[in-house]
Amino acid sequence: MLHTNLDINGAGHLTMAGRDTVELAGKYGTPLYLMDQARIRERCREYLCAMREHFGRNALPLYASKALCCKELYRIVAEEGLGCDVVSPGELYTAHAAGFPMEKAYFHGNNKTDADVRCAMDLGIGHFVADNREELYAISREATKRGKVQKVILRVTPGIDPHTHAAITTGKVDSKFGTAIETGQALDLTRQILTLPGVDLVGIHCHVGSLCFDSGPFEAAADIMIAFMAQVRKQTGHTLSVLNLGGGYGVRYIEGHPSIDIPDNIRKVAERVRARCAAHDFPLPQVLLEPGRSIVADAGLTLYTAGSVKTITGYKSYVSIDGGMPDNPRYALYQSDYTVLNASRASARPDLTATIAGRCCESGDLIQEDVRIARPERGDIIAVLVTGAYNYSMASNYNRIPRPPIVMIAPDGSDYVAVRRESYEDLLANDL
Ligand SMILES: *Cc1c(COP(=O)(O)O)cnc(C)c1O
Repeated sequence: MLHTNLDINGAGHLTMAGRDTVELAGKYGTPLYLMDQARIRERCREYLCAMREHFGRNALPLYASKALCCKELYRIVAEEGLGCDVVSPGELYTAHAAGFPMEKAYFHGNNKTDADVRCAMDLGIGHFVADNREELYAISREATKRGKVQKVILRVTPGIDPHTHAAITTGKVDSKFGTAIETGQALDLTRQILTLPGVDLVGIHCHVGSLCFDSGPFEAAADIMIAFMAQVRKQTGHTLSVLNLGGGYGVRYIEGHPSIDIPDNIRKVAERVRARCAAHDFPLPQVLLEPGRSIVADAGLTLYTAGSVKTITGYKSYVSIDGGMPDNPRYALYQSDYTVLNASRASARPDLTATIAGRCCESGDLIQEDVRIARPERGDIIAVLVTGAYNYSMASNYNRIPRPPIVMIAPDGSDYVAVRRESYEDLLANDL
């Protein structure tokens, strides 16, 4: 199967973490996000162990909350000893509510409002990752008012294009994120920050993009970032001690994608960081990474119930499911690849080429086009694999469709609800 936590049992049903997905769909109803807690923990440990081994004891992976944000996830990630990055006060509020240690939370985003800055300081945020000049002045004003010194990391753009989709490429010079190194603006801004009261500039951050399948973009970024740190030291006398290389490791969504050896990639990036630091005679910084997708994606799948199976003579076939773009907008947004299976007939030969369509009044509401699948009958359970990242977190109530629940399979094989299914009452909660 696509990932090691997936299999097929004697009944011909798809299993995840040893549990029958058809049985769980029956117990909880569909659509349903199903997650494998042990797999999330395994990924957290992979990052933490490899980073400590190769970058040193103070290295820290920060889970990128935007991939999947709910209290249970913060509890798991905190137990595993990771930090987190948050991009909004809503994520921050959720982390705080889950008891996440705030000193290990890093506040991102390209446009933090004054209210956001106050909220983050109220909740005791550890670091701000500041995007631009206006934001730095806002942080400085608020920190000064409170008589405190706020730790800050500056987001810069190293000018790297990892050749992925334009919508998920963020390290280029022409980007809404960060301040460019290439144009000299990052150095100018650094000089200004060093004169600002109430802020302690401890390091720099970059995030080159998403869906990177090897260490190349990270190594290229490390070269530029460390050269910049050396330049800052030379021009200002200030030594930055934190290097945050962002997230972006890819995940295998379909058979055609490579699988990634994360520890080996981290080893390669670390070798490069050490070599560049040595070349610039620069002290090895504390290294942070921000994996999101690669922590949660293959720990999740979505279960739906098949409705109509429609063949348009001379054209193609559509399988309609009881979810769609409200619970997974990624195909509609950027034609993301997914593997779709008939979980009820997982050992049957895929004998139908079909487009998997959602239930919304929107012809673009598709989950995948022209996939091979064992012909479903109404009532069969359809599984879309590798939906742990950017599905629940991107879900909407379009067409007033309630969001599905997240059910976790615990390491002991038991199942529990981590996020309950939205009710129709929930949909009315803000209507006056
Ligand atoms: C999206 C994002 C991440 C996580 O990216 P993944 O591809 O999910 O690993 C990390 N850091 C920043 C700043 C991001 O915007």
